[in-house]
Amino acid sequence: MTALTLTLGCAGARASAPGASPPPAARPQLTLTTELPLSDAERRAIIERVQAAFAFALTLSGWSRPDALAAEPVEIRVDTTRPGVEASTSGAHRFTIGVGALSQPNADGIFAHELTHLQDFRAARQGMRQPPRYLEEGRGYFVGREWRRLRGEPGGDGERAALLATATAEEVAFVLAKFRHQPELREVGRAGKGPLARGIGVFFVDYLRTRAGYPDAMARLSRAWERLGQGGAFEPAFSAQFDGLTLGAAEASFVAFIRETEGNPAERLKGTPFEGATGLRPEDPEGAAGFE
Ligand SMILES: [Zn+2]
Repeated sequence: MTALTLTLGCAGARASAPGASPPPAARPQLTLTTELPLSDAERRAIIERVQAAFAFALTLSGWSRPDALAAEPVEIRVDTTRPGVEASTSGAHRFTIGVGALSQPNADGIFAHELTHLQDFRAARQGMRQPPRYLEEGRGYFVGREWRRLRGEPGGDGERAALLATATAEEVAFVLAKFRHQPELREVGRAGKGPLARGIGVFFVDYLRTRAGYPDAMARLSRAWERLGQGGAFEPAFSAQFDGLTLGAAEASFVAFIRETEGNPAERLKGTPFEGATGLRPEDPEGAAGFE
């Protein structure tokens, strides 16, 4: 398998309440492949939703050349997926969504999540294996979460927030160290830390935005992904985008923050979209929903 066919499988979303207008942005040519007996109208509807999610991901990621990332076609496959995997992205041109996931009420969030991976592949090219997996998933969840919120879709934020609120510094240090590259990824599942690992990246992005002084952290990260596509290495690219802060130092300060807020979930989640989603507040709109 080459770097360009690296597959990112994503478990657990739910979804769809179409209705919001897509933002104006570049849209790629899109083809839909499926064995399902879909009508032309159903095909067109899916393509419209995917194009809207693509445009949203393009905008929220803050790419420096969004039109270039939309220039090549996208193939979407509606197919059966591996057990526990709702959707997956293979390289820069294709993503697959499971038949079941397509009918879930959060399918738009899944589209945005997968298309973020696809855009990251387009930007980073052969460098796509370099960034830690938790951070790649964090970018996908970040865009998926915001698109779901905009579309009014349900999501797994309540359950994810509850996990993040109670995680210890030791657990977070473990998943940052292991949910990174093959083959250590498997250790995360064996330790029963899969759900925390899938949620930690987006919370790290939230930490950079709300605590570390980088409200535009997604755009800075996108620049680092673009640097990979120019043949650069990830860690120096990250540092260059964050005023010399190394990835290791950023992770250490994140873990220290987790340690400081052990037993104080309100302080830990303050200022992030997870605030108020833990069930700690009576107005919690989502409760203990599942994972995206
Ligand atoms: Zn993913």
